[in-house]
Amino acid sequence: MGIMKEISVKALAKINLGLDVVRRREDGYHEVKMVMQTIHLFDRLEMKKTAGGITMMTNLSFLPTNENNLVYKAAKLLMDEFQIRDGIDVKLHKYIPVAAGMAGGSTDAAAVLYGMNRMFELGLSKEELMQRGVKIGADVPYCIMRGTALAEGIGEQLTALPPMVKCPILIAKPQISVSTKFVYENLKLDENTVHPDIDRLVEDIRRKDLAAITSDMGNVLETVTIPNYPVIAEIKEHMMEHGAAGAMMSGSGPTVFGLFDDKEKAVAAYEAMQASGLAKQVYLTSIYNNMR
Ligand code: ATP
Repeated sequence: MGIMKEISVKALAKINLGLDVVRRREDGYHEVKMVMQTIHLFDRLEMKKTAGGITMMTNLSFLPTNENNLVYKAAKLLMDEFQIRDGIDVKLHKYIPVAAGMAGGSTDAAAVLYGMNRMFELGLSKEELMQRGVKIGADVPYCIMRGTALAEGIGEQLTALPPMVKCPILIAKPQISVSTKFVYENLKLDENTVHPDIDRLVEDIRRKDLAAITSDMGNVLETVTIPNYPVIAEIKEHMMEHGAAGAMMSGSGPTVFGLFDDKEKAVAAYEAMQASGLAKQVYLTSIYNNMR
């Protein structure tokens, strides 16, 4: 194999099949218990070796292209640690909805770590890449690992689960932006909080029982977002009325996903969602189960 000068990497998005906040820690972080699932919706990153420094470009003009971009942060982390003399240029083709609860930035960072490890022949194992990733964000290790996983701690403690049942997935992101900070700050955790049963959901996944999965799915953050942004509930209802087996908000939102037990129903629901005007970005996609 010759020396690699460039590499193109897919950065896949995730949804949360379950999301619970167990407690608020004294340092302000939240302890979570989440079921993460990779889906076949992705950004593409084209990385090239250059003479020096870090440069990047993206098709979304409102995204930063400096150290505020997680792509840049990930590149800098490896450049510094390994004293890489060459430079890197990254072209980020962004398709994953931004600030949407789909770990878009984290998965781009994961792709940079993975791609640079190969291009610069750093020889890092998957676990070693994951250790670098957590310095960039709590979801980055999961984005390196991929597949179906239980995430605990602040999201960085991962347990691989058996692959999720394959099914069509409808993704719909409304026009609104929801700040993750706002959602966590406004989350009320008391005896009235209805927590999803993540252990039961994990059992459903092990049994590959889609009907049970859709009935046990839950996201505690909907208790904050739905009262504030009713369009999230409208999108869920629209999906359910159009044949979804289950529909839920991903992460801190506002993206909603629907799981379907039938491809034709999913296509019809996709077309209806596009016609409804409820969502600005609508995608029909599927479960992605290959781990790295
Ligand atoms: P999560 O699911 O982890 O909550 P998210 O989907 O809510 O993530 P992102 O799309 O990852 O959020 O990014 C949110 C913010 O981070 C954006 O407003 C953007 O300015 C910044 N950002 C930095 N790097 C990126 C990137 N590569 N892609 C998207 N956003 C980025």
